[in-house]
Amino acid sequence: MQKLAIPSPVKRIRFEGREYFLKRDDLIHPDFSGNKARKFYHWLEGEFPDIRKVVSWGSVQSNAMYSLSVLAKMREWEFEYFVDHIPSRLRKNPIGNYRAALENGTVFRKKTELKKKEWGEEVLFVEEGGRQPEAEEGIWLLAQEIFDWQKEVGIGNLTVFFPSGTGTTALYLQKSLHFLTRHSSLTTKVVTTPCVGDARYLCRQFAMLESDEKLWPTVLDTRKKYHFGKLYREFYRLWLELYRQTGVEFDLLYDPKGWLTLFETKVHESEEEILYLHQGGLKGNESMLPRYQRKYPGMDNEF
Ligand SMILES: *Cc1c(COP(=O)(O)O)cnc(C)c1O
Repeated sequence: MQKLAIPSPVKRIRFEGREYFLKRDDLIHPDFSGNKARKFYHWLEGEFPDIRKVVSWGSVQSNAMYSLSVLAKMREWEFEYFVDHIPSRLRKNPIGNYRAALENGTVFRKKTELKKKEWGEEVLFVEEGGRQPEAEEGIWLLAQEIFDWQKEVGIGNLTVFFPSGTGTTALYLQKSLHFLTRHSSLTTKVVTTPCVGDARYLCRQFAMLESDEKLWPTVLDTRKKYHFGKLYREFYRLWLELYRQTGVEFDLLYDPKGWLTLFETKVHESEEEILYLHQGGLKGNESMLPRYQRKYPGMDNEF
């Protein structure tokens, strides 16, 4: 198995006239979606002699699904994944995370069959999107990397910004940074935005993992409501502009909402240094980008 490239590097980028630090978790492993390598770190590194099979569920183009298929392949476990529905077009022409998961030997099953099963010792059950306590282990390491870097470069007040799905990464990162910075002169604030559901939904997700609200990240949102997985002209434009100005490919599902929130809520105008966390997810762009190109033909020519 190829080793994880951690600590991940921090680069400087300039976007729309402002400097940001960019933590490149997308570079952790060529076959992993960045933040899933953090969330699944526990199972990548530990010893699990009894486990034979991984079982999980969620959407058919999920980054978590693809990463679990990589984990299962590395560890020589089977992988069963439960979905509501596989569109016939995708079945005929597999693409993106779905294709990669198939190539890794993923067995797809109907979600309706999931409840009936009783799993034994040999099965590792992973919640949708990896929302579970084991994720804390890898995210604690991410927090340590950020804390060490912040000390080294001497930034007193740092804002770490990135978009959330389940909110697991944001919650455990804020919690870990709270404990790491407690006895230092540094403050590190995690700020995030919901991509699935609204701010209330995201806070309910936090509550499932941590009851102490003081340890929760700050949640900001756009005025307009965006639906997860839908295509928006302003998202595509922003993504293209990011690529043009920084040369970095961001994820098309979460990052446009992230950057849009930064601007709309004027986080970018603050004096504080901002570290944007690139959480990977580029395999998903293989299916998202053709959808955008079909919906907004020629828009990429403007860039
Ligand atoms: C999974 C994922 C997220 C969401 O992470 P959560 O811990 O569920 O909030 C964000 N960005 C990318 C690229 C992802 O793959």
